[in-house]
Parts: sequence; C-alpha cells; structure tokens
Amino acid sequence: MLKIIFAILICIVPAFAQKKVCFTIDDLPVVSYSISDSAFQREITTNLLNKLATHKVPAIGFVNEFKLYSNNNLNSFQVSLLNQWVTQGFELGNHTYSHLDYNIASLHKFGAEIIKGEIQTKKLLEGSGKSLRYFRHPYLHTGDTKAKSDSLDQFLNAHHYIVAPVTIDNADYLFALAYHRAYVKKDQSLMNRIGTDYLTYMEKVLHYFEQQSSALFGQNIQHTLLLHANLLNSHYIGKLAEVYTRNGYEFIALAEALQDKLYETPITRFGKWGISWIDRWALSQGKGNDFFKGEPAIPAYINELTK
Ligand SMILES: [Zn+2]
Repeated sequence: MLKIIFAILICIVPAFAQKKVCFTIDDLPVVSYSISDSAFQREITTNLLNKLATHKVPAIGFVNEFKLYSNNNLNSFQVSLLNQWVTQGFELGNHTYSHLDYNIASLHKFGAEIIKGEIQTKKLLEGSGKSLRYFRHPYLHTGDTKAKSDSLDQFLNAHHYIVAPVTIDNADYLFALAYHRAYVKKDQSLMNRIGTDYLTYMEKVLHYFEQQSSALFGQNIQHTLLLHANLLNSHYIGKLAEVYTRNGYEFIALAEALQDKLYETPITRFGKWGISWIDRWALSQGKGNDFFKGEPAIPAYINELTK
C-alpha cells in the first residue's frame, strides 16, 4: 500500500511543482504621459504599491532618475514617490538616467548614463539598509553584437550590477497608452473595456511564455514579468496578480527568481531586438520561425487608440 502511495506521489508531485514569478516594474517614479499633476502621480504610486502589498507581491521597480529633476533641480515630490517604494519594503533598480537606447549609444555614453542614474536611488536604498543591485536595459536592448553586449556586461560586473532579465515580455505599455487616452476623455466604459481586455491579453501572454519555456527547457522557468508604472497597472495590478494566482503562481523577489539555473543558459545570438530572454535563448539554440508562432495579438482597437 505504501509503495502504491509513494508511486502516486512521484507521479503527481512534478505536476504540482510550484510556479513562480517576479513582477518587475519599469520607468519609475511614474509613467504619467503628459499629466504632471502631483495628486495624479501620487495616486498611481499609492495604488500600485498598496495592491502589490495586498497581494504579497515582492516587486522591484526600475528607476529613470531624469524624472527626479526639474530644470536641473532635484524635485522633492518625485523623490518622495520613489521613497514610497523603499519605505513599503520594495526593491529598486537602475534603468539608466534618461532611458537611453543602447542600440544607438556607445558603451562610453551608456556607462555614464548608468552612473548618472544611480545617485538618488542608491541614497534612498542605503538609507533603509539596502543596496542597489539590479540593472534593467531600456527597451530590453542589451547590445546588438557580441562585442557590444560583452563590453556592457563587463561594465555592469565592474560596477556590481546584476542584469534583470525578462521572460514574460508583453505590450502592457500599449494598453496603458490607450487606457490613459480613455481616462483623459473621461470615457469610463472604454477604460473598463481596455482593463478587461488587458487582463485577458496578459493571461494569454502568460500561457504563451509558459509554453515557450516548456518547449525550450522541458520546464517552466521562474518567470520575470515586465510591467510599467502607469495608470492602467495602478488600477489593474491587483487583478493581474489574481490572474497569476489562479494559474498556480507564487510571487517571489528577483533574487529568488534568478536562482533558477535556466537563467545561466548562454546567449550566443545578438540583434537590435528587445525581446524575452526565452526568445534570446531559443534563437541562440537555432530555433526557427515556427518556434515563435502563437504570440498573443494586441486587439486592433488598442492599436488604433495608440496611433
Ligand atoms: Zn523602460
């Protein structure tokens, strides 16, 4: 009898292996498009952080420090938005000073942007006993040749940065722009429609990258999800967390996600692309077009609204 129970357990345990994801949120303090109203920006930050806390999501935010300055003066309001992340126990990382594109910048210029972009974030983190550890490439542009990619990796290493990869890439920013435009027009029913379709789309994206991970590795990697600090996510990140929970996910910090050895898979092909690390590994292993089929489409009306 015991042998039978043991055999059953061996069969079912892999099926119930815990799925894990880290939520990573870019372009801090906030993506507010043209709205400079401080109450609006405060609300985005407060909603985002409260919903992450309610759902016990240990997210990390990536900062563009140029947003902390107005006319070369440090803007204490913007710093206070960032400080909310730190005081609520969230981690912060560097996303370059001005969201510079490494596809069009030299290592010299890009490196200077990394250093310029760490000053206030470092101060805030160190003030609460933490240190700045992670770097996220703007546009996920990591270097379009091996030489350019390697030289940036060496720079990041020398400055004690750990690269924050993305496995679940998506178009949250397009839904967010459409949502923002509906908000400006005070069109609540359109906002509701975009929000609902956003959740449906994000669940399809999750299933797509689960399938890609399984196809490439025979297992589901500990995922890193890319999001942005915008109004849409400030309203829907709680519901998005519920989508992940319903799909069997536990929320983890970036350090834990990166313990997955699959992140050590070599990347040997380079391009101007800003794509998921799963796609980079797949390209490096010679996968052809067929492998990448089935990525969820963005609804036509979202594309229309963002023109
Ligand atoms: Zn960004």
